[in-house]
Amino acid sequence: MRVSGADYERLGARADDLVSFDGHRAYLRMVNGHCAALVVEAHSGQLFCSVYEARPQICRDLARGSAECLAERDAKLERPLLALRRERM
Ligand code: SF4
Repeated sequence: MRVSGADYERLGARADDLVSFDGHRAYLRMVNGHCAALVVEAHSGQLFCSVYEARPQICRDLARGSAECLAERDAKLERPLLALRRERM
């Protein structure tokens, strides 16, 4: 996902860890098939955004529980769960 200059500023101290660059374009860094800001709690299986208050605008534009949000979850839910399974192995 694209990260704008304003998004980068808002991410503050986390920006360098969470953003990767392709030329002059910035994107959320991916780890194990999901956004690096997504935390997968091994003990509970809970998923949450570790930068929710500072998340990029593209994430803010996707309203929680909207049809678009649910479609994204349906399409991509297994990615962090696969990462969780790998962590538990
Ligand atoms: S809401 Fe958080 S975890 Fe989800 S894509 Fe955006 S920054 Fe990553």
